[in-house]
Amino acid sequence: MKQFKSTRTTSIRIEKIEKSFGELKALQNIDLHIKRGEFFTLLGPSGCGKTTLLRTIAGFENPDSGSISFGGQNIIHLPAWERNIGFVFQNYALWPNMTILQNIAYGLKLREIPAQEIKKQVKEVLDIVSLPGIENKFPEQLSGGQQQRVAIARAIVIDPQMLLLDEPLSNLDAKLRVSLRKQIREIQKRLGFTVIYVTHDQEEALEISDRIAVMNKGRILQIGSPEEIYEDPKDNFVADFIGKANFIKGKVTGENVFLAGSGIEIKIDSLKDSAGVIMVRPEQCLITSKTGPWHVCGTVVEQFYLGNIIRYFVKIGEKDTILIETREKLKLFDTVYISFNHYKVL
Ligand code: ATP
Repeated sequence: MKQFKSTRTTSIRIEKIEKSFGELKALQNIDLHIKRGEFFTLLGPSGCGKTTLLRTIAGFENPDSGSISFGGQNIIHLPAWERNIGFVFQNYALWPNMTILQNIAYGLKLREIPAQEIKKQVKEVLDIVSLPGIENKFPEQLSGGQQQRVAIARAIVIDPQMLLLDEPLSNLDAKLRVSLRKQIREIQKRLGFTVIYVTHDQEEALEISDRIAVMNKGRILQIGSPEEIYEDPKDNFVADFIGKANFIKGKVTGENVFLAGSGIEIKIDSLKDSAGVIMVRPEQCLITSKTGPWHVCGTVVEQFYLGNIIRYFVKIGEKDTILIETREKLKLFDTVYISFNHYKVL
């Protein structure tokens, strides 16, 4: 076997995919182009269609319409087993009555690779997932994290065209999730696979991905790099789903003047007349002094000490409260002057 490196990995183009289950439109007008070697994440709340899209790419689900091509070749009519895809499931899906060697070797046996070569390849992929020498164990003798690494080894040993991972870390505890996601990213970079990764965890998506597609109700709302999605969300849903955000509702009442619903005037540049919401992240609210410049003034009404930051709720006007995260020490009922370092008008 070659020095283990993906040799067949490919780009993916998805055009106008639609899929309904009865009345429910699970996927609507999905268009995506994923580059060769890219780590691409589908992110969205439960039921938004992430798994259905992944299963459609894998060939486990047939779309009602639309096309899918791998490396420029239309594969929509190919059954799952001919698509040469490595799939990693949330629940590991290892065969309990087979050894780790037999589990990983399964796909190679189907491809009629000689036994000696299979052993060599299994050893190699077990080294890649940092589990050397466990060939003769059974899945139940391994922890959840180890079982998932075996599942990853099983998916990559066939040298697939791409690796599809469906919430692979959701069954693991928080610390393990963080360390295993780093390992998955490191393996992907080293071997060069195109990866499509499904998660509903925004922090995981931001850390691991080259690009992210944020989905809701069967549609893709925005595609971009982690930075683009976080800093420049297209709408309220994306802004809210990907991290914490303040949404100050109101209307433009004059040049550079936004009147918040609570009756407070916020002076802000580059306002369109149609602006109805100012979105600002908690860490982009800087505490300044009365002599300014500042965007809004309010009263500290709640505070939570979280170690690395302090979280404050600041009441502005009658109705609005904004969340601020800072290292500054403030006291309850302090009057504070806040400047928005970065904001978005929606
Ligand atoms: P989760 O994170 O909870 O897995 P998801 O974003 O992956 O959610 P999907 O599993 O793709 O969402 O489901 C999208 C919608 O399609 C949901 O409303 C789900 O109930 C529905 N659905 C999925 N598979 C089927 C099916 N085989 N039959 C009927 N409805 C289905």
